[in-house]
Amino acid sequence: MQIAETLHELRSARQQLTGRVGLVPTMGYLHEGHLSLVRAASEECDHVIVTIFVNPTQFSAHDDLASYPRDLPRDLALLQAEDVALVFTPTPALIYPPGYQTYISVEQVSQEKEGGARPGHFRGVATIVAKLFNLAQPQRAYFGQKDAQQVAVIRRMAHDLHFPLEIVVCPIIREADGLAMSSRNVYLTADERRAAAIIPQAWQRAAQAYDDGERHPNALRALVRDHIAQEPLARLDYVSLASARTLAEQDSPTDEPLLLSLAVQVGRPRLLDNCLLPLALNTREGASATLGRVE
Ligand code: AMP
Repeated sequence: MQIAETLHELRSARQQLTGRVGLVPTMGYLHEGHLSLVRAASEECDHVIVTIFVNPTQFSAHDDLASYPRDLPRDLALLQAEDVALVFTPTPALIYPPGYQTYISVEQVSQEKEGGARPGHFRGVATIVAKLFNLAQPQRAYFGQKDAQQVAVIRRMAHDLHFPLEIVVCPIIREADGLAMSSRNVYLTADERRAAAIIPQAWQRAAQAYDDGERHPNALRALVRDHIAQEPLARLDYVSLASARTLAEQDSPTDEPLLLSLAVQVGRPRLLDNCLLPLALNTREGASATLGRVE
């Protein structure tokens, strides 16, 4: 496994790789969710490039950039045990040197949900991912359904900027009680960690109702809202019922594939979770074929 810290090191290592290259962009502090993307990439590609970069432009002033968890030696040891050809670990100064002034804004799909809660977040995400696509020149790039709106933003950006690559969407990896794995779960106290299990229970309740025939978005949103309200340590930021393809919020019943997503504050972290409806879509194939699909 090669480690590249500079643009020159990355480009010359990339030139040695022939065949299909899979890219897995991360912010590090790796867990099984990240490793599931690495494993999917190594199964389907000739070489895997992983990037570890806590991207400052996707954090706003009140976000947790300075305290975002980091452990590069541990991350590299985890990746060493996987089939990874190259790890790129740039510094912020390398990616955004003095005088830097180029950003990518993806319009509609960045507006609501996470984009509404974190202004500028998706501008930072689209910019760093476009830069990583340019640098790593992958044939495929792997992202988690966990950050569903991010998938839609990146798919739109990749399509609009003519990046010749395929975006693969991998299922959400969860803890035993259903909580979606996240680097930010480390911020939870023991009580908050127990309380956070309410999040997957809430969407499961709505998914069950969907399965039983409930199609009204307002009724499905209300089920999530009422369930989260039962847990005093959890505060619902938003619950969204949107088209899985366009991420447009839905107001009336539909049989089109839907994305049910929610953001919940539990103590310090704001935790995200989601599911596609019908539930059979929550697979690599189902999510890749629907979530943010452009065409
Ligand atoms: P991050 O390091 O949080 O930027 O995440 C890097 C990639 O891992 C993104 O594509 C995430 O969607 C994905 N990811 C994060 N958590 C999970 C999870 N629990 N299951 C699957 N993928 C995940």
